[in-house]
Formats: sequence, C-alpha cells, structure tokens
Amino acid sequence: MTLTRDLSCQVCGHDRFVHADVIWPELVRQWQLGPDEVAYINVQQGTRCERCRANVRSQALARALLGVLEWPGTLEAYVTSLPHPSPRLLEINEAGALTPWLSRLRTHRLVRFPEHDMRALPFADGSFDLVVHSDTLEHVPGPETALAECRRVLATPGACVFTVPIVVGRLTRSRAGLPDSYHGDPGCRESDHLVQTEFGSDAWTAVLRAGFDACGIVPYRYPAGIALVGRRGPAD
Ligand SMILES: [Zn+2]
Repeated sequence: MTLTRDLSCQVCGHDRFVHADVIWPELVRQWQLGPDEVAYINVQQGTRCERCRANVRSQALARALLGVLEWPGTLEAYVTSLPHPSPRLLEINEAGALTPWLSRLRTHRLVRFPEHDMRALPFADGSFDLVVHSDTLEHVPGPETALAECRRVLATPGACVFTVPIVVGRLTRSRAGLPDSYHGDPGCRESDHLVQTEFGSDAWTAVLRAGFDACGIVPYRYPAGIALVGRRGPAD
C-alpha cells in the first residue's frame, strides 16, 4: 500500500489516497493489456480516497458531475448545502462510490441493471436533468441504444455523466466471438459482469451516435480516470 497526495478528493475534499492493485492475470491476458495499461487501470479502480473510499474512477465521475452542476466545491458540500435547486437525477446501478451522496438529493432515483434494461428505461421522455452511471455500459449489449435511452429520459438541457473502462491506446471493439470476459472479481461468472464491449479512444463517438448534441471528456487523472458527458440541448 502506498500513499499519494497529488489531487484532492472530489467527493469529500480529503487529500490522502491509498492504493491496492486490483487487476488479475486472467483479465490482463483476455484484454491483452501492456504493463502501462495494467498500471493505470490499477490506479483507476484501486487508488482510493483514504477517507471516503472513492476510487479514481469515482473521482472522475464526481468531477464531471460537479462540472455539469457548475458547483465549485466537493460533492459532499453540494448535497449538504441548501438551498439550491435539486436536479432530477437518475442513477443506473450504484455509480462508483457516489450513491451515499447522490441518494441524499430528494429528487434521486436509482435503478439497477440488469433488473432494469438500460435499453428500455421505465420513465417518460424528459423525466430527468441528469443521468449517471459508472462502468455499466460495457456490460450492455448495444451500448449506443442504452445511451440513446439515457438521452430520451433527459430533459433539455440535460446531461448523461458516465464512465466506462477505456484503454486509450486502441479503438473500441465488441467482444462478440471472443472468449467470455468478466469484470467484478477473479473467477466471477455473473452474467451482468460479462463484458460486451471493450471501449477505446473512440468511446466518445458512441455518445454522438446516440444522438447527444455534444460530448465532453473530463479527466481526473489521465489516463486512469476519465469521465464522459453527453449533453442534451444547445451548447452554451
Ligand atoms: Zn474522499
């Protein structure tokens, strides 16, 4: 375990992080990852705030979310500071370590995949101001359809803020026809952890193909922590 101090926590403002590797050899072989890729994916998933336990993936998600909200402080300060208008927020799966914070918003809704099909959400058009998900889209057959569905349930203006695992040195590929690969833990064989899509440096194109008006790419710690933002509505 090592300690780093280079970036403060977007969730709670703490400035000390702890690290433990999380990638296992089978996944390295399946994904054909090089040593540098293994290193940054370990940071993405295994470097955590010492205080609130949000990992670098969650940090990127929180930073992107705070940017959309135009909030200069931490996520903790946002959800505990009133008054401010509470956005109608849909969370799909527990989004990283952010659920305890997001669920404090009165207008928070949570649905889980695969109990709810991300490609057929049970909500009317324009029901939300924000849709948030984290490392879920790669498990959905037809990720563009799922993103288009996120766009459908968003009002205008609205934003879909999310992460997927991105290997930045290659292009996106479907795992159709390849051996089954699972996220979660070593030995995991749960169907909702089966990887359908390996996202690469063109991950942003899925956002635009899904019909969003703009796509933002927000780094927390490049390339370990990157979040994507699909905007519905005219650019500023
Ligand atoms: Zn923290």
